[in-house]
Formats: sequence, structure tokens, C-alpha cells
Amino acid sequence: MNNLLTIDKLSLSFQGTQPEGGETEVLHEICLQIRQGETHALVGESGSGKSVTALSILRLLEDISRVRTSGRILFHDQDILTMDRDTLRELRGNRIAMIFQEPMTSLNPVYTIGNQLIEPLMLHQHMQRNEARERAIALLKRTGIQQPEYRIDSYPHQLSGGQRQRVMIAMALACRPDLLIADEPTTALDVTIQDQILELIKDLQEEFHMAVLLITHDLPMVRKIADSVSIMHQGRIVEQGTLDKIFSAPEDPYTIHLLDSMP
Ligand code: ADP
Ligand code: MG
Repeated sequence: MNNLLTIDKLSLSFQGTQPEGGETEVLHEICLQIRQGETHALVGESGSGKSVTALSILRLLEDISRVRTSGRILFHDQDILTMDRDTLRELRGNRIAMIFQEPMTSLNPVYTIGNQLIEPLMLHQHMQRNEARERAIALLKRTGIQQPEYRIDSYPHQLSGGQRQRVMIAMALACRPDLLIADEPTTALDVTIQDQILELIKDLQEEFHMAVLLITHDLPMVRKIADSVSIMHQGRIVEQGTLDKIFSAPEDPYTIHLLDSMP
């Protein structure tokens, strides 16, 4: 199987973060491969650099912070770090989708969820409004939203946390991505809802033949859905391998420590 995404020696520093104007390196020579259709888990404690890695893949940091990046991020053999803005826009709109921990912050509070689904379908998939509305309803239904014909006119605050995450997943699927990046997708949700959302991601991954980069600090969750795992610690990948290898024959002391503290 070919690699869909290859991160090759990615290092990243934030500039101007020190009082004397220096820079802080938060990623150090990260290497990571995701094959088509697989679920790769990126695991590490808070502050280890998981979200920075995720945001780097879509080059979302450079718009808001001064960063210095080196290395390569190949998507279908094209380097994301050097690609032109039009290709990058196409990639963000149609090829790679992302969901975050707290769906409220990713949804616009003043637009109905229907509008937030319909607009991108019209823009990126070139659908007419009626067709986009039908597709939006179908997506909401597929992600488990009850009575989607009626729910589509709700505002984000009228939904529960779990429903909002379902809407985010529907939005992510709207572009039929090859890769879904899920950054702590269940951390903000109740435990019972966490399992439902995880199941949903797993089902959709098979149905849509997507690869998933699952970012989490939750090892039991990794065990449920990942094919392969990278363990991250202080901006470095300290160990990686298949799910079996990481759980049954970990080698790095930090990985062993993480597994020991697993509930
Ligand atoms: P996590 O593994 O919890 O997702 P992050 O990737 O968010 O960790 O953060 C990794 C490190 O990068 C942290 O030390 C964090 O403070 C720092 N960091 C993240 N975003 C920024 C930013 N925009 N500017 C400066 N430092 C940042
Ligand atoms: Mg994070």
C-alpha cells in the first residue's frame, strides 16, 4: 500500500516567543507515515506537540503565528510545505478534513448548521443550493443526527456537545476527504458519548475509505481503533509501530511509562 501522507523530518519553531526575541522549537524532526485507509494514532501528553503537528499538515499555523518550519510533508507525493496557495486551498477544502476537541469553537454561532454545511458544498463541490441541502441532510442523517430535515435549521448552541461533534464530522465528510485529522475528537464529551463518536468515526472510515490521523492521550481509545501508533514526547516521536507492537512489545522507556499508567 502506498503512503497517503509522509511527514519527513518536520521541525517547527515559534518565533518571538522568548522575551529576548528568540525562538522555541516545539517539533523536532518528526517522521510519520499514513497509508491509504489506515488509522494512525498520534499519542502523547498535553503540550507534547500533537496539535501543532496536526495544524502543520494543513499549514494553519503560519496564518496566525510566526513559525519556522523545515522538513517535508508529502501528500500523494506533493510537498504541502512548498505548495502554492491555490493548491493548498484545494487541499484544505477537498482532500484533508479536520475535526477538533471542542466543536463549539469550530462552528460559527450565528449561522445555522445547515448553512455551515451547504456553503462549503456549493463552494467546493460546485452544487446548486437545493442539491447541497439534500446532501447536507443526508450527511447529518448518516452521522446520527435525528430528524435532520428539522435539525438543519438549528444554531450550534441549540445542540448538545455530542450532536455538535456529529455535525463537525458531517462537515468533514462533506468534502469526501482522503484523510481525516481528528484532534482529541472526544475529549470534551461525556464518556458514553465518547464511545458513540468513536464508533461513528470507525464506521465512516471504512465506508468512505478514508485514512484517519487520530490525535489523543487516551490509550484505551487507541486500542479500539488504531492500526498503527506514534508516541510523541516533548516534540519528538519516541517510538512508532503497529498497534500490536506498541501494546505488546514497547521499547522506549516513555512508551512503557505511558502503558503502565493506562487505566
Ligand atoms: P498538544 O500535544 O497538547 O496538542 P500543542 O501541539 O498544542 O500540544 O503544543 C505544543 C507546544 O507548542 C506547547 O509547548 C505549546 O505551548 C506550544 N505552542 C502551541 N501553539 C503555539 C503558538 N501559537 N505560539 C507559541 N507556542 C505555541
Ligand atoms: Mg492538542
